[in-house]
Amino acid sequence: MRYLSLGDTDDISASCHYLEIGGTGIVLDAGMDPNEDGYAAVPPFEALADRPVDHIIITHAHHDHLGALPVIVRKAPHATVHMSKATAMLADVLLPSSARLQKRRLREGSTSATPVFDTEQAEALSYLYEMHNLGADFDLDGLDTQGDVTGRFYHAGHVLGAVGVYMEADEWEEGEVLGAKKAARTLRVFYTSDTSVRPQTILQSAEYPEGPLDVLLLETTLGADPEAEETSRKEQERAFGEAIKRVIGRGGSVLVPVFALGRSQDVLAMIGRFKNRGLIPDETPVFTVGSMRGISAIYDQTRQSTPRLDPDFEVYGVEQRRLPRSEAQLQAAIAEGGIFVVTSGMLFERTPSHSLAQKMIEDEKHGVFFVGYSKEDSPGALLQEKAAAGEPITLHEERGPQTIRAEVARFRFSGHAHRRDLITIVEKTRPKKVVLVHGETEAKVWIKDNIEFFHPEVEVIIPEQGQELEL
Ligand SMILES: [Zn+2]
Repeated sequence: MRYLSLGDTDDISASCHYLEIGGTGIVLDAGMDPNEDGYAAVPPFEALADRPVDHIIITHAHHDHLGALPVIVRKAPHATVHMSKATAMLADVLLPSSARLQKRRLREGSTSATPVFDTEQAEALSYLYEMHNLGADFDLDGLDTQGDVTGRFYHAGHVLGAVGVYMEADEWEEGEVLGAKKAARTLRVFYTSDTSVRPQTILQSAEYPEGPLDVLLLETTLGADPEAEETSRKEQERAFGEAIKRVIGRGGSVLVPVFALGRSQDVLAMIGRFKNRGLIPDETPVFTVGSMRGISAIYDQTRQSTPRLDPDFEVYGVEQRRLPRSEAQLQAAIAEGGIFVVTSGMLFERTPSHSLAQKMIEDEKHGVFFVGYSKEDSPGALLQEKAAAGEPITLHEERGPQTIRAEVARFRFSGHAHRRDLITIVEKTRPKKVVLVHGETEAKVWIKDNIEFFHPEVEVIIPEQGQELEL
């Protein structure tokens, strides 16, 4: 089996891996780097020019796993594209929306990169998808496949539709008779992609195949985060509820910057629970926005067919209003006291959370509560730093520096396994070799050291981008 890393290797950017297994060529994920624009954001697919690409498997609908799918499909038009039904429903919304955003950013001058696909190309893809249920075997044979190669999806817990991919292939060996080949053994590989060992607010925890495996491709997002393993979700939810209660109680408004897929639905589910328990008044208005609303609808449509903690729970069962468009209505809504669950999660410019933050941070009545990760140097990270240091912040040049008087806090709700949990995946699946992917170098080194310490029989590999490995 051959493995080639095409995406991120020292950071969390675009996920993309290539496997040649039993003669079949498989691309695992085709993400876009959220920190780059145009073709600079796309994995180096040219490395696949002389290799077979028979199948493309998309594990979930996050941009860093799905975003470059239209580009790889152009380069490998005969490949079959596999994903879960829920991921396909999300892709139908998210890829055209990404095409529109790329076009708009070029028009507005916020990038000079030409879009890598248009709406029409994104919409046409929808007919190509082969969708599979969890636990069902599907064929991964290719043009040069020597024996059987099959795939199987496992629930990954991370966001709606997310799967880990199990692959099994006959490995062939030269026989005694010249030219004849015989099957020697079965090769077993599992790719966790982004995975959550513990349940979140809406989704059940992930499932993994029973070992032993030959190769485990393991994500390492939280590998360098000692805090995550000491954080209890229940405790964080309680503190988050109390913080919202405090702000609403003093007549303020709460801004919760979120990512459109995953965290926003979780936050809405929590707000629903807070209201049901009487922690916050039932009539407190909740505002949501844009693509998040379409994604919430897909969460609701699939609640009976995907693994849920409570299949009766509907995101739209939590009453929501559309974020007002006019400045006057927006100011009135903030003054009235409400909860604004809006994108982007890191407060990027030209997003509703960025504009609301400017309207709210100077008033001590209000609260800005982060519920996810903010990348270093993002406006979200800057606001948390400046608030802690008691320094003013400039979110918008024209507005100039603003004094932060609002309550700024961060609550930890992750859709990723923390680092001790990642080690338990290794224990459960008992691989001979582990390839560490999707994390910063520091994270991978911690995971490597710990696997090697507790399980010296396991070989741990940290691949370089473009490096081909024979596994
Ligand atoms: Zn993800």
